[in-house]
Amino acid sequence: MSDFKGALTINPFEVALEQLDEAAKLINLDNGLHQILAHPKRVLTVSLPVKLDNNEIRVFTGFRSQHNDARGPYKGGIRYHPQVTIDEVKALSMWMTWKCAIADIPFGGGKGGIVCDPKQMSDLELERMTRRYAYAISDIIGPYTDIPAPDVYTGGKEMAWIMDTYSALKGNYVQPELITGKPLAIGGSLGRTEATGRGLSFTVREAAKMLKLDIRTSTVAVQGFGNAGQFAAQLLEEQGAKVVAVSDSKGGLQSRNGIDIGALRKYKEKKGTIVGFSEGKSISNEEVLETDCTILVPAALENQITKKNAEKISAKIVAEAANGPTTPDADEILYKNKTLLIPDVLANGGGVTVSYFEWLQNLRREYWSESQVNDMLDKNITRAFSDVYSTHEKHQVNMRKASTLLAINRVVDAIKIRGLWP
Ligand code: GLU
Repeated sequence: MSDFKGALTINPFEVALEQLDEAAKLINLDNGLHQILAHPKRVLTVSLPVKLDNNEIRVFTGFRSQHNDARGPYKGGIRYHPQVTIDEVKALSMWMTWKCAIADIPFGGGKGGIVCDPKQMSDLELERMTRRYAYAISDIIGPYTDIPAPDVYTGGKEMAWIMDTYSALKGNYVQPELITGKPLAIGGSLGRTEATGRGLSFTVREAAKMLKLDIRTSTVAVQGFGNAGQFAAQLLEEQGAKVVAVSDSKGGLQSRNGIDIGALRKYKEKKGTIVGFSEGKSISNEEVLETDCTILVPAALENQITKKNAEKISAKIVAEAANGPTTPDADEILYKNKTLLIPDVLANGGGVTVSYFEWLQNLRREYWSESQVNDMLDKNITRAFSDVYSTHEKHQVNMRKASTLLAINRVVDAIKIRGLWP
């Protein structure tokens, strides 16, 4: 991921705290409640000794941060990446609290991560590391306490190993409701794989209505071509937009005639990267962000849009598929330039929303149809967009502040009603 510069230099937890401070000021939040929200309730660090294929032992470090559970069990993904830090995981867990509150689903916020480079590991090494991690955090996760899910460089495969390990450890019966983002064969939900991108495409549809933009004459640039970026690109293309630039961790492509996303996805599936695809000219990751386009989708890592490049962004809509891609000073620049930013906690909330549907299906031992899942997602995220948009108009603040303050109000309500005990 060396091409995604900036991710290392800015501390995401400081960014998350600054966003909290700004929203707290706007609503005159009581200092004690502010302090509660500034501290995750629990952060666990675990050492994971893993036997590698060459028989050596390597000790990996993993984390699970549980930010807040006032509204329901902690919920959030697990990421595998060489740049994972404890502060990144803490920030991501706070953003999950806001995300679940905005989606108005009965979860709090959590996040996990392991410092590792999964692209350099065999499947067997990944399995041993994942099972060790599941074992190490098994006492703090559970179907009613903390429900993990996929995130950067994890997916159904890892979720299945975690479910299997936990089920064997805790009573030795199958507990699909422990974790979401599972393969269909073990209780995954139809529509979950596409859910983050699909939810994002619905929020862009709503934003376009507000700005009176026609999606069919819009152009799209997508930075990052993982799960969220691929489906965001594909579903915006399905709405009639033309995708003119795409990148992944190895490089980018640009074509004014539009890139065929279906073909590009197949190419990436085979080659593991978009680099070398027959269409378009090659550009860097930074250039993707600055591409002349109507809709920009940062779908990679944190701190990609900063005060250094925010002025160069021409998009009318920025829809954050990634978590934390824009810094607070860049937020202000985009707002001043009248770019409508759909913040991560709203734009990518489709993923956790369908995770909630998966959890409900598991608890009830039901299987819902894909159209049922997609319709419920559409209704939920459209309502969430309208809640954030009206808060932004009412308080005359950017969409990030609007979503943070809306979320804080909902979480604080729950904290106050429950009270402090002991
Ligand atoms: N990792 C995803 C996110 O950041 C999904 C979380 C979940 O489904 O629990 O929203």
